[in-house]
Amino acid sequence: MKDADAAWEALNAQIEHCQRCPRLVQWRGEVARVRRRAYRDWDYWGRPVPGFGDRQARVLVVGLAPGAHGANRTGRMFTGDASGDFLYAALHRAGFANQPTATHRGDGLALRDMYITAVVRCVPPKNRPTAAEVRACLPYLATEVRLLQPTLRVAVALGRIAWDGLLRVYREHLGYTQLPRLPFGHAVVYPSPGPGLPAFVASYHPSRQNTQTGRLTPAMFDAVWQAVRQMLGDQPARASQQEAEAGRGPLSNPG
Ligand code: SF4
Repeated sequence: MKDADAAWEALNAQIEHCQRCPRLVQWRGEVARVRRRAYRDWDYWGRPVPGFGDRQARVLVVGLAPGAHGANRTGRMFTGDASGDFLYAALHRAGFANQPTATHRGDGLALRDMYITAVVRCVPPKNRPTAAEVRACLPYLATEVRLLQPTLRVAVALGRIAWDGLLRVYREHLGYTQLPRLPFGHAVVYPSPGPGLPAFVASYHPSRQNTQTGRLTPAMFDAVWQAVRQMLGDQPARASQQEAEAGRGPLSNPG
């Protein structure tokens, strides 16, 4: 195994066994025990959820935390709930995902040039982690950013908590203390603020609450991924075109 692969595996093993936040350890287990009626035959994941995708990605996507009956059930970020349905459909339209759906690990979903993670790896009650829980979990994101550093060009945060966490990682964990204030807003793009830094892109979170109220529409979300393509210097592309151009076999991501 190559050094980088070994570092990823070590990180993900550490995440999956983490018990730093007592409230979340209790809650993730309780959700997995009680289950939702529709999923009562499921063996819930019920543990911290590691990141997912291309380990040589140019694009990092940071969400908030696993959904109670989505990632906390399936064990993969944004998989098995309405947020994931909205996200992966958009990523497929933008050419970053090989299929528009994400239902379970082993469903064939793979990401190209993108790695998806979150500021908090355990499902929080009411989707609201405390500030202390976010702080406790950020070192994992810092390690992911370090591992992606050689290829990383654009970092996207979904929602304000993810945005604040991502910038905190750069300021407090990675030593970019001079990083300027970057106000959050939907589809706001900040070209790389300095050497070693990616471009930063902010988006509303594709939560059911945002997508069902029209606060975030598919067109608004597509604008975010088009902006990411622009930052990468790529032409807007659909998945089928990308795969043809890449001339690669079926996509697969480790983990
Ligand atoms: S939220 Fe993060 S730090 Fe807290 S227990 Fe889960 S994995 Fe560990």
